[in-house]
Formats: sequence, structure tokens, C-alpha cells
Amino acid sequence: MEVKEDFELSRVTTLRIGGPCEKIFFPETADEFIELLNGNPDLFVIGSGSNLLISSKGLKGGVVCTKQLKKVSLDGNRIIAECGVPGPFLSQFAAKENLSGFEFFIAFPGSIGGNVYMNASAHNQFTSDCFVSARCYDRETKSIVILNKQDMNFAYKQSVLQTGRYVLIDAVFELEKAAPDKIEELMSRNLTGRKQTQPSMAYPNAGCAFKNPPNDSAGRLLDKAGMKGYDDGNVKVWDTHANFIINKGNATSTDVLELMLKMYNKVKENYNIELAPEVIYAGEMTKREEEICRVLYQKNQK
Ligand SMILES: Cc1cc2nc3c(=O)[nH]c(=O)nc-3n(C[C@H](O)[C@H](O)[C@H](O)COP(=O)(O)OP(=O)(O)OC[C@H]3O[C@@H](n4cnc5c(N)ncnc54)[C@H](O)[C@@H]3O)c2cc1C
Repeated sequence: MEVKEDFELSRVTTLRIGGPCEKIFFPETADEFIELLNGNPDLFVIGSGSNLLISSKGLKGGVVCTKQLKKVSLDGNRIIAECGVPGPFLSQFAAKENLSGFEFFIAFPGSIGGNVYMNASAHNQFTSDCFVSARCYDRETKSIVILNKQDMNFAYKQSVLQTGRYVLIDAVFELEKAAPDKIEELMSRNLTGRKQTQPSMAYPNAGCAFKNPPNDSAGRLLDKAGMKGYDDGNVKVWDTHANFIINKGNATSTDVLELMLKMYNKVKENYNIELAPEVIYAGEMTKREEEICRVLYQKNQK
């Protein structure tokens, strides 16, 4: 398998931010991945890197990137996908088989591992909807376990993977047969809506900065608080979506966190709502980053 040393993690995150790690592994088969985890259970896992803010100071210890693990197979209405399969690929794969349930995956770059970890959702579809089971590496018992839907504790932006105990190797989903034109129409509606409101990947970003609070939308609150298009130097809030931060080219993790703090404070001052970050922070913190994360994350992360 490919192994790289002193690797800049900005190369594997969609925000294009992230300092060095000592070693990064790119396993090519599930067996290789499991063997790697057996020898190094604490490796930090990166899928498509589309929900990550990695410190510009870097990340201590090793990292594994799952992007080569992209095997997909079909068993009736069931799709079995390795953790590194990109959602948009799976969406198209399902569409070709006239299977409905993955239309929302067309619209964002997350891998299956990351999508299950976050219970990623869009356009009223959730990763948990079609989820049947996953083969996971259990870091506590150093063994492979099968987790069924009831083991996953799925909720909005939440799954048992967030405890850090399990690494998803591959997962089984059950979809429903549907008319091809219905599937295509839904996929193209999902894509068109995005193009109107979200930055293209040409502007490095990590999707929504904050989760929606109960019965409201973080984007709506941030917009009303005047944050749409707010320019903060190296980073900026997107012009047509107030919950997206873009890296203008030379941003650091501190730039992003400073802007997230401003966004958080604005909504708190105006509406007395404390937004919880959606984007996951990882790595070595500067003193200032520690201060900001104490406000943004430690109080908020569930
Ligand atoms: C333009 C854009 C649009 C987006 N739109 C949406 C949207 O509509 N809805 C939505 O929900 N999200 C959206 N996102 C955010 C992001 O794509 C999702 O959160 C996605 O699920 C993250 O998957 P990933 O593979 O990129 O995970 P990463 O960012 O690589 O990792 C996220 C977390 O998952 C963990 N992880 C990854 N793989 C595994 C594994 N195999 N086992 C255990 N843990 C693992 C990582 O350790 C990390 O903690 C968007 C992002 C972008 C850039």
C-alpha cells in the first residue's frame, strides 16, 4: 500500500487546510485496512476530508486515508460499499440499477465511512434511511464486529462511530426499486438547487460550518444576523449561503476558527441560540485555537 511521510494534510481535505502528519497510509483492500488497524488502532481516519478542519500545525500520530477503498457490489436491492466509496459515485451506481434512496449522495463529496459517521443528510434523505449493517473494526476489542442499524444510535448528524470506538470497513444498504426517470429527476433537482446556493469545489470549503438547531436552519439564522458574504481576510462566508466558509487560498485553521467564532457570537447575540459546529476539528491546537474550541466545541459537541 502507498505510505507517505511528512505529508501535508491540506492535500486530502476539501478546505485545503491541514499541516503535516508523520505518516499517512492509503490501503487498497479491506484486508490491508484491517491489518493496518490491528497494528495501529489509533490511526486518525480520513475519508473524502469534506467535513474536516485540520490544524495548520498538523496532526500528531499516523493517519489513514480510505480513498482507495472503493469497491461496490450488488445483491438484489442491497448495495455493499467499502468505506472510501464517494457518495456521488454510489448515487450514480444506484441510479443505473434503478434503485432509489441514494439520490441525495449526488450532491456532496463525502465517502461512505464519513457519511455513516455523520449520518449525512440532504433533501429529506438520511444515510441511516437505507442502512442495514456495517462491518467495523472495534478499537477496544481489536476485532471485527457487525453493527446493525439499532447499534448505530443514528440521529441528526449523529452515529455511534462518533464515540471513536469503531472504524467502518464496509456497509450494506437496502434500497427500493423505482422508475429511472424519477431517480434521475430527483438527482438533477438536488444538483441544480446546490449550484444556485453553494460554492463549487473550486472554492475550498467543508460544507456547512454549523449544524441546524432544532426546528431552525443555521444558514437562515446566520443570514439574518448579517453574515452572508462576510469577508474576514483569508476566509469568507459564501455570498449566497451564510453557513459556508470558503478558504480564499492561504487560510489557516485559526482563520477558519476565528470566523466560526464571529458567526457563533452573532447568532448568540441576536437570537440567544448557541450554534454547534458541524465541521470536525482535529490536530494540534495553538493557544488561541484552544480558547476558541473551548467556546465552540466543548460546550456544544454532543
Ligand atoms: C460542498 C459540500 C457540500 C456538503 N453538503 C452536505 C450535505 O448536504 N449534507 C451533509 O450531511 N454533509 C454535507 N457536506 C459535509 C460532508 O460532505 C459530510 O459530512 C460527509 O459525510 C463527510 O464525509 P467524508 O468522507 O468527507 O468524511 P471526512 O471529512 O473525511 O471525516 C469526517 C469524520 O468521519 C470520520 N470517518 C471517515 N471515514 C470513517 C470510517 N471509515 N470509519 C470511521 N470514521 C470515519 C473521520 O475520522 C472524521 O471524524 C458537504 C461538504 C461539502 C464540501
